[in-house]
Amino acid sequence: MNTQVQDPVSPKPMPEPARLEIRNLRRNFQGREVVSDVSLKVMPGQVTCLLGPSGCGKSTTLRMIAGVDMQDSGEIYVDGALVCDTVHRVPPEARSIGLMFQDFALFPHLSVAQNVGFGLSGTRGEKQARIEDLLEKVGLLSALKKFPHELSGGEQQRVALARALAPRPSVMLMDEPFSGLDERLKDEIRDSTLEVLKAEGAAVLLVTHEPDEAMRMADEIALMRDGRIVQQGAPYNIYNAPVDKRSAAFFSDIN
Ligand code: ADP
Ligand code: MG
Repeated sequence: MNTQVQDPVSPKPMPEPARLEIRNLRRNFQGREVVSDVSLKVMPGQVTCLLGPSGCGKSTTLRMIAGVDMQDSGEIYVDGALVCDTVHRVPPEARSIGLMFQDFALFPHLSVAQNVGFGLSGTRGEKQARIEDLLEKVGLLSALKKFPHELSGGEQQRVALARALAPRPSVMLMDEPFSGLDERLKDEIRDSTLEVLKAEGAAVLLVTHEPDEAMRMADEIALMRDGRIVQQGAPYNIYNAPVDKRSAAFFSDIN
């Protein structure tokens, strides 16, 4: 007989809520549906990759989440709170969303530290501590007083990452953030970016058309095609059990 005393009232831990959840998003342009019934979640500390060929509707999906475009139907939740459906619409700057795009632009007339601190609130000391913490994480603490034109492309990218993470957004949206970079630097920058995202515990929705980038960075992949998510799961499972021949072919150019 089990003599251990069981506590009959101790509850199971609550499942951790999603940082971002989108439900049944749709978007038409001139009568053509480019996003069709897209649903997905991004969990705390995880990188979810929205992966699919050019033109399949990835950026349109991200733009609706960011609040710079509006869906025809469906809902968007951040930290469990509705930020947009067809009736309610929280403005982009109030959604606790960090953004990073290919054409990220640093403020050219501001120093690295000023760029990172741009969207921060709090006391001077708090801001300074946050700026230094992030610049340390991206390996650019020594460049604090430099200006963007004094940095390489890869370094500017790291400052942009620090700037986007600085206000501790609930979710980071990254749209093909590495596509402008030199092919030889990409893997190294992907790895160092992932390290920073993990150190920050960020919840990330990363858009890419490159399967190897998704395999390298994602905890979860949502495979998109013609406006729909056709398969979703762990990278290993998606790679090993593609849903059909088109998915298999899409992955086949990974070395
Ligand atoms: P992806 O980011 O996956 O390459 P997009 O979301 O940018 O794809 O585009 C999906 C489709 O929607 C494309 O065919 C594109 O031409 C079309 N599209 C995107 N934005 C607009 C717009 N503002 N007006 C009309 N068509 C658009
Ligand atoms: Mg795009």
